[in-house]
Parts: sequence; structure tokens; C-alpha cells
Amino acid sequence: MKTTRKESLFRSLDATGNGRIGKHDILEVLSRSGIAVDDIRLQGLRARLDQLGDETVDAKGLETLLGGTGQLFARAQRGELVIPGFNRFAEQVEAIFDRVRTIDDGRVADYIPQLARVPGERFAVAMCTIDGQALQLGDVSTGFTLQSSCKPLLYCAALEEYGEAKVHAHVGREPSGRSFNELALNNCGLPHNPMINAGAIMTSSLIRRELATADRMEFLTDLVTALSGNRPCHFNNAVWHSERETADRNYALAHHMRERGAFPAGTEIPTALDYYFSACSIETTAPAVATIGATLANGGVCPLTGERVFGEENVKNGLSMMYSCGMYDYSGEFAFSVGIPAKSSVSGVILAVIPNVMGIAVWSPRLDTCGNSVRGVSFLRELVGRFSFHNYDSLVASRKEDPRRLPAAGETSFTYLAIQAASEGDVAELKRLVAHGHDLDAADYDGRTPLHLACAENRVEAVRYLLDQGVSDAPKDRWGTTPLADARKHKRKAIVALFAGRSKVQALKKSA
Ligand code: GLN
Repeated sequence: MKTTRKESLFRSLDATGNGRIGKHDILEVLSRSGIAVDDIRLQGLRARLDQLGDETVDAKGLETLLGGTGQLFARAQRGELVIPGFNRFAEQVEAIFDRVRTIDDGRVADYIPQLARVPGERFAVAMCTIDGQALQLGDVSTGFTLQSSCKPLLYCAALEEYGEAKVHAHVGREPSGRSFNELALNNCGLPHNPMINAGAIMTSSLIRRELATADRMEFLTDLVTALSGNRPCHFNNAVWHSERETADRNYALAHHMRERGAFPAGTEIPTALDYYFSACSIETTAPAVATIGATLANGGVCPLTGERVFGEENVKNGLSMMYSCGMYDYSGEFAFSVGIPAKSSVSGVILAVIPNVMGIAVWSPRLDTCGNSVRGVSFLRELVGRFSFHNYDSLVASRKEDPRRLPAAGETSFTYLAIQAASEGDVAELKRLVAHGHDLDAADYDGRTPLHLACAENRVEAVRYLLDQGVSDAPKDRWGTTPLADARKHKRKAIVALFAGRSKVQALKKSA
């Protein structure tokens, strides 16, 4: 009888082979794959695990226990999440974090007292993948205001409401080559792009014009909440007042735009500006910003709630703008050398996106002369120096590591196919892989080889085939276990006998 995927999943967890598993086995899989214990998708599972206590369950019980999280859990256990070796990846990121933490160059923004008072030492990095794998380092519970990192969100919200043509009748999409608040418009009298102040004041003026002020504000906080996986966000009233009181330049920009007829008819300048200051004054944390990035990386669907917040086409446009214009006067250099879409802000947060992989938030308040967080830029540079996340890394034979599933060379995918074939005893498939020139010795990120799986699953023919192919007969997985030890543990007598027979033959050959 063929083993189903469900049965193999259960067996892979049943370390003692007694047909029962406990709470610990389940939590182990989740933490190893980077799914945080406080992940909102696990709420139901957590409650059921608490009820389970020290009891164990069989295969049927596991299914009931997992409920709606069954798919996520199976993918996590099979190493099918976007970053399969998440813990190893996290360790490397932590090493970068520790190095960058020693940098103390730059100055905290001081144009308003609320920003000037933030301790320069603060430092947080958060990541969230499109499968919701999460990493949090440093000051991840401390709040900061979104400031300019709200600009791509305002732009996407305007696109959602009006579509590309109408939005770009009011704002351009070229880098300005000038500073973010320069009193300058493009040749058509429009702001150069939505990532600078003038452009964001414009997109602010477009959003939900028909709503009452309070409802428009709620629209904004609801939007940020939805993008960040239902994490509550706050409105920082003091920052809003300060922004408003020191806004001569922003007022000047708005008046300049009105003079050139850039706004839609009926736009009230104070209303547009107040809305822009409100968006800048939304206070949140690094994990929330990382999740916003993950929603963008995931084509507009929040990975934690499954809610579509923005349309794919609008997200594509938002990311394009971030790529070309998101890092102030450093945008060209950043696109060249780091090569990912990112949006910087005066509070020191950088919202960065690796499309189809993850969102990243780096928050550190000390800024360089362009206005970018010094540690933020440095962290992202190091990250991309180590991993092949630059947009064009895939075009070159990169020496960098690729932590993603199914790298271009296909080596990892072959490894998983071989392991699956071995665990299902599918000798024909193993032959097919060998025919492709694949090395059947390759191990997954836990050091498990096809031979381990074939032994554990009692696939005698597959074991014989693998040994006949000359695979190494005693590789150790990351727990130090060999295939033979697996076979003994699961009482696979035929396989233990097979190994014994072969070593006898070898011994005879040697002595002859
Ligand atoms: N509120 C700030 C301003 O409009 C935001 C600017 C920024 O983060 N660069 O000046």
C-alpha cells in the first residue's frame, strides 16, 4: 500500500515510532520553520495545544488538533516555506545585526522635539516572509512614527481608488534628483513622483475625498492595520501637532502645486496637508512594518490574515516607485548597489521589500546627510552582500548564498524530490533523478539524505537501490543519526539485515 503524504507527515514527527506525538513535537516544527508562537494564524491551535497538555495524539488526533493550520504545518515540516532553513538564515542575519549595531555615525532628526528626543541608540530589525516566517531583533516593541515610509502606502491607496492614469495625471513617476522637500515641480507642473513630499501631499489630497475628516482618518489607520496583519497602530498626536507647526516648506509646496493647477478641482490645501501629516504621524513597530513589507512582497495579500489589501498591479507600481525613488538623493546608488525596493523616513525606519520573499523593517534613528538611517542602509547592504537578494543577482553566477526555496540551479528541488521518492519507496523516480545526473547523497537542511528516509520508512528496495548506486552508507543527520540507526530504531528488520549482509560481503572482499 502506498503511504499517503499525510501518513508520511505523521511518521516524520513520530520520533519514537509508537504512533503518538505530543505538543512539543508540534511546537518544534513551528519554531524550527520560523513561525512565531504569537502568529495570529495559530490562535486556535494554541488553545487546543493548551487543552492537550501532556497528552499525546495519533494521526487522526493530529489532524483535528491542527484544524485550519494543517496546510501551513505540513509545508513547514516538509521544508516548503519560502525560506526552508529559517533558523540558519536567522543566525546569519543576527550576526549582521550585531555588527551593524556597533555603528554610531549619523544624527537623529531634530526639526521637531518629538523626533529629537528619541535615543539614537535604538535599533530594531524585523522580517516577515510571504509565508509569515518572522524574525525580530532589538527594540522591536518600541514605537516610532511612519513618517515618509507612509508614502508608498498613500500612493497604492490612491491607485486603488482612481487607477494609474488618473493618479498620474496629478503626479509624475520620475526620480527628481533633488531633495525630498525641494521646492520644485516637473516640466508639467506636477510633483516629480509620489515618494517625495510634494507627491505624497498630492496622493493625500486624492484619497477618499468624499469622507468626513474622522472617517478619512479611520480609513488610514484601518489600512495600516490591515497591511500589518491586524496589528493595532496608534496615532501620535504630539508628532502631528509638531509636524503641522513646522510645515512652512510643505505649505509652500502645496501652494506652488495649486498655482500650477496640479490638484484636482476643489482641493483644500489645509485638508490635504493635515491628512499627509496624519499619515506621517501613525505610530507602529518594526514587526508591523516588516509585515507591511511582506504584504507588498506578496502582491498585496497579507500573509498573516490572507486578506487582499491592494491589487497586484498597484503593488507592482508602488514597488517600482520605491525602487527608483524611495531613498531620497541616494535612490540611484541604492538601486544600483543594494537592488531592492525600499522607502526611507526621517524617523529612521526603512521599509524594504524583497519581492516574492519578504518584507524587512530596519529602524535606527541616526540619519546620514541624505536623510537615510545609517545603520538601516548599512544593514541592508550587508544583507544583500551575503544573500543573493539584489534584483539582478539571478543574472550572474552569484557566489552569494540563496536561502530561498528552489534556487535557480534546481539543486535543492532535486534534493527534495529524491528525499520524497526515497521515503515513498519510488525506485522508478530515484532512477529518473539519477538519469538527470543528480547526486543521491544530497541532504536537506536537516542533514537527512534519501537513504535516511528510505530506512526510516522501511523501503527495502529503495535502500538496496541507493546502496547499489554507491551512496555513502553512514551519513549523519543534524541529530547525529545514521540511516542504519534509523532502521534499528524503527525495527526495520529487513533493512538491518540488508546492511549486515553487505558489510559481510565487504569484509570478505577485503580479506580475499
Ligand atoms: N513629516 C516629514 C515631512 O513632511 C516626513 C519627511 C520624511 O520622513 N522624510 O517633512
